[in-house]
Amino acid sequence: MAAVSPTSHDAIVVGGGVGGLAAAFRLRQRRPDWRIAVVEAAPRWGGVVSSERRDGLVLEHGPDSLIRTKPEGMRLIDDLGLRPRVQDTDPRFRGALIARGPRLVPIPEGLYLLAPGRWLPFLRSPILSWPGKLRVGLDLLLPRGPAARGEDESLAGFVRRRLGREALERIAQPMVGGIYTADPERLSLPFTMPQFAEMERSHRSLLLAMRARAKAQAGAAAAHGARYGLFASLEGGLQTLTDTLAARLDGCHLALGARAEGLTRRDGAWRLESPALSAPRLCLCLPAWAAAGLLGSVAPELAVELAAVPYAGVATVNLVYERAAIPALPAAAGFVVPAVEGRSLVAATFCHQKYPGRCPDDLVVLRAFVGGALHQDRLAAGDQAILASLAADLRDLLGIAAAPRRTVVSRWPEAMAQPVVGHGVRLARIRAAERALPGLALVGNGYEGVGVPDICAQAALAAERLAAG
Ligand SMILES: Cc1cc2nc3c(=O)[nH]c(=O)nc-3n(C[C@H](O)[C@H](O)[C@H](O)COP(=O)(O)OP(=O)(O)OC[C@H]3O[C@@H](n4cnc5c(N)ncnc54)[C@H](O)[C@@H]3O)c2cc1C
Repeated sequence: MAAVSPTSHDAIVVGGGVGGLAAAFRLRQRRPDWRIAVVEAAPRWGGVVSSERRDGLVLEHGPDSLIRTKPEGMRLIDDLGLRPRVQDTDPRFRGALIARGPRLVPIPEGLYLLAPGRWLPFLRSPILSWPGKLRVGLDLLLPRGPAARGEDESLAGFVRRRLGREALERIAQPMVGGIYTADPERLSLPFTMPQFAEMERSHRSLLLAMRARAKAQAGAAAAHGARYGLFASLEGGLQTLTDTLAARLDGCHLALGARAEGLTRRDGAWRLESPALSAPRLCLCLPAWAAAGLLGSVAPELAVELAAVPYAGVATVNLVYERAAIPALPAAAGFVVPAVEGRSLVAATFCHQKYPGRCPDDLVVLRAFVGGALHQDRLAAGDQAILASLAADLRDLLGIAAAPRRTVVSRWPEAMAQPVVGHGVRLARIRAAERALPGLALVGNGYEGVGVPDICAQAALAAERLAAG
């Protein structure tokens, strides 16, 4: 049987998550005349970005927010004409809480991820025991350590050294766990939170650096009026972004429900066996392990590096309650649960309070996170077991005894990249190997950052590079 000759394009984008859609959009902006193919294995666009809209509810199954401080996410929103649909977090509910035993303790004013910026609210808060607070205070006297010298150090190593074990277990682990669903013993501090390594380098003491930061920010707030919330979403949920991107790709060859397989490279062209496509440029917008699977025979050494980027699975559980059936909830956006508490729940969002218009007035929506690097075993449980353990946690922490009217469990296996100690060095090797393969670009959460804006930034750079070549 004669081999089917692949359809020739100018560029192939593999992966139709936010990364692949943004890369194709940016490429099309730069090269409107190019034939671009976008290949997505699933029957829908968006990847882990997935918002369900039904009966007046908006349920986020994947990400729910963009951080505004990384500009490429908002830039993409502007370029798509979506600015009028941006939603800010509701200012009445911007606080967050941390579980301690059966209580939810407000995060003290001025606390930023790992360390307090204002001492009085921190000392007054029950977030740590008095010995724990005294140990945090020792930071004022301690010398600089490895992070200040530019060495890679785990988040846990750094926080234990500067602020003590209790601050690690009760503050840093749950706060950072909420972002990366990661094991702090493995997470690279300089890669994920370089600002803290810089604080130790410049000020020696984190507490002194944090106080200087808090003062500077208070000045900035006074000068510029009220500060915007750090996070934003879109009406209809974040899927509004990926839906809009997908709708703007008319003119591209869109292969939905088509898994890219059998990648080879011959005579300067990248070829896929299925779907049969070829192009001089290839943008792989996939988790690093999936990119490794495709590149195995073309670039075995690069594939080994990609496969070594660890990932963890996570599940979100949306729980819809009758408002009248549950007690009043704290006036906050949500809460995090330290792993030392031994609960199934990693974090929860009060969705109806965080963004407006997410559900009818007579309902409330809670979204729970389960799993992550420290709780991988919990994901192996069936949906009913997960729901039962969540119900117990929510009864203890929020007094909710009523059964939810509706639940949706969304599992995302191997979805959260873990930038562990050594990631920066591995990433440099990955990018060098990528540059050595003409026409290849890699975009995804296994590289420079895990958030949607990080991926939008990578997609813009990849498009710029491919369009120039
Ligand atoms: C539950 C959860 C909550 C999160 N919350 C936030 C948040 O609030 N804010 C934030 O900024 N970030 C958040 N993140 C992180 C962020 O959402 C992701 O890192 C980002 O969306 C990943 O986008 P992507 O396009 O790189 O990958 P994906 O969304 O994983 O897309 C990759 C696509 O490639 C497809 N694919 C795989 N293999 C093939 C193949 N061989 N051929 C064709 N297609 C293939 C997959 O089907 C998938 O659609 C969250 C992540 C999760 C899982």
